[in-house]
Amino acid sequence: MAPTLQYTKSVPVRGEYDVVVFGGGPSGVAAAVEAARGGASVLLVEATGMLGGMATSGLVGPLMTSYNREGTRPVVGGIYREIVERLEKKNGVTVPEETDAPSIYSSFIKRYHKHVTPLDSFLLQIVLDEMTKEAGVEVLLYSRFADCICEDGKITGAFILELQGMTAVKSKIFIDCTGNADVDENL
Ligand SMILES: Cc1cc2nc3c(=O)[nH]c(=O)nc-3n(C[C@H](O)[C@H](O)[C@H](O)COP(=O)(O)OP(=O)(O)OC[C@H]3O[C@@H](n4cnc5c(N)ncnc54)[C@H](O)[C@@H]3O)c2cc1C
Repeated sequence: MAPTLQYTKSVPVRGEYDVVVFGGGPSGVAAAVEAARGGASVLLVEATGMLGGMATSGLVGPLMTSYNREGTRPVVGGIYREIVERLEKKNGVTVPEETDAPSIYSSFIKRYHKHVTPLDSFLLQIVLDEMTKEAGVEVLLYSRFADCICEDGKITGAFILELQGMTAVKSKIFIDCTGNADVDENL
């Protein structure tokens, strides 16, 4: 077994929130924006310097289909559609209705690949910044989940590794959108 070191330090408490979301990818932004629009105080903690996750920092695209398998009917709306509409106003997207498969966007694959959404990832960053700001979400970039405090099997607090050092937060609800299930007391 590797040797261990005991480490004890007092860290400042950044605040108390209704909802803390770890991971600012598409899922984290949607969770944070919807919670804030519903009246919750929300902190969104993102490890990189931008929102959007794989769709921005990973340059993964186009957004895969929002249509059913056959590509005959849209099945995803909500925040996704709002993002597409905002991107359209900035000339940053080809709307899914205008793409088909096979095409340069979806190669030879037809099933689940009709009506994908090619977009400008830099404009997507701006759209997500606007949406979080308008909803009143507090966004913390270059910061990542470090550890959590559990009471009675429930997460009641978390430690965040920010650029300036470690801080702590308390919240009624923690949402793990890291894509890695990082929010774990045994990390
Ligand atoms: C190789 C590859 C290719 C893909 N191609 C496509 C494609 O062409 N089209 C498509 O629509 N989908 C594609 N996908 C799927 C798409 O990337 C995911 O469905 C989507 O990114 C999921 O969004 P998410 O918000 O759950 O996670 P992510 O986009 O992964 O976002 C997670 C966020 O959490 C942050 N994070 C991680 N750990 C921590 C932490 N400890 N603390 C704080 N923040 C943290 C990350 O920095 C990241 O911003 C692809 C995936 C992969 C892996």
